Amino acid sequence: MSTDEPADGSFGQYGGQYVPEVLMPAIEELEDAYRRYVLDNEDGFMDEFRQRLADFGGRPTPLQRADRLSDRYDTDVYLKREDLLHGGAHKLNNALGQVLLAKYMGKERIIAETGAGQHGTATAMAAAYLDMPCEIYMGETDIARQRPNVFRMRINGAEVNPVTVGRGTLKEAISETMRDWATNVEDTHYVIGSIVGPHPFPSMVRDFQSVISEEALEQIREKAGRLPDSVVACAGGGSNTMGAFHHFVADDDVDLFAVEAGGSSLTVDEEEGVAPNSASLSTGNEGVLHGARTKLLQDGDGQIMESHSVSAGLDYSGVGPELAHLVEEGRVTPVNVDDDAALEAFHRLSQDEGIIPALETAHAFAFLEENPDAVGDLTIVNVSGRGDKDLETVIEETAKRDLDVSPDMSVFEQVGAGHLGRGERE
Ligand SMILES: *Cc1c(COP(=O)(O)O)cnc(C)c1O
Repeated sequence: MSTDEPADGSFGQYGGQYVPEVLMPAIEELEDAYRRYVLDNEDGFMDEFRQRLADFGGRPTPLQRADRLSDRYDTDVYLKREDLLHGGAHKLNNALGQVLLAKYMGKERIIAETGAGQHGTATAMAAAYLDMPCEIYMGETDIARQRPNVFRMRINGAEVNPVTVGRGTLKEAISETMRDWATNVEDTHYVIGSIVGPHPFPSMVRDFQSVISEEALEQIREKAGRLPDSVVACAGGGSNTMGAFHHFVADDDVDLFAVEAGGSSLTVDEEEGVAPNSASLSTGNEGVLHGARTKLLQDGDGQIMESHSVSAGLDYSGVGPELAHLVEEGRVTPVNVDDDAALEAFHRLSQDEGIIPALETAHAFAFLEENPDAVGDLTIVNVSGRGDKDLETVIEETAKRDLDVSPDMSVFEQVGAGHLGRGERE
């Protein structure tokens, strides 16, 4: 926990609370609750949170040695298996923490935004488990490309509200959810899905996710008898990243790599207002988005640019202020890999280790493939989630490319179903 952080929620020049006046009462109420329940464990909040994460979530998740990858890169590769957390991603750590906090605060309604659908799914599950009504805002583009998660949210009893403005992805969904929160502050808690937004969200979400590195630190000491030389995690907003880094930050001997989505290119088309990547740490500059000062993809006039990534969960124009700050300080190294490399890494991990990763997670493994010498003799890669939700996208995107490791899907042609499955049959 981090009682020694500045009370205004700043991380160097980043962070803060850039919100409209109507939201200030809700923000202040949340700050107060964060301090009492999360930092001071009032009424045993953190004890209940930990117990529920164990019983409902399945924590602790394993730290597993990846034998084939270790041979391939001639380095000890350990996997922190957040894909085995209930729901299939690290998202539940935060969603469960916030829905429980909302209950302690006496709130009666949960709202959230979602990009890949993973956070919406985790929030819907946590809300069902803790008996709270729940509405999820989701961009129309993401609804179309993340169908399995839309089904899961509805099946768990959550409303899904489509957002049709802009490009219909995470950025617009966050803005819509903020609008709902501003009109319903009395009875509603907004469960933000990453270490983004106004203070106290970035610190609070990080604290809920820091269970990842707390466990990993203990597990690596037990299994390897020492600290790792590096920790590698993919970065969208940065919550699995900071969760995996937090308890290693103080130890300068542990290198921290945040792997962003390089998309199809790092070159930006300012005319179109589009960045063909989501690499805000590597290529962005300072600005304000969704209530915080941070690093953003923006054009010369300070307009936020649309981002791109083959993985919906990394497709965001901003990044958490704490991560931006740690990069600024040189503590975290931002790196990126492109869509092709991520797809290849997806197939490699599936074939070599029997783990089908989320496309987001695959970025972390693509970095390992491209820079095996950067990670030292012992590295921990955070497996932020599993890839079931991505199968349709992966098959489609793989078919468009000439990759080294793509599986042959001609079995569908043998039975006359078309190798793209559902899409082609319609
Ligand atoms: C949401 C998601 C991410 C990206 O979000 P962060 O806040 O950067 O962690 C990464 N991996 C998976 C599996 C996700 O669901």
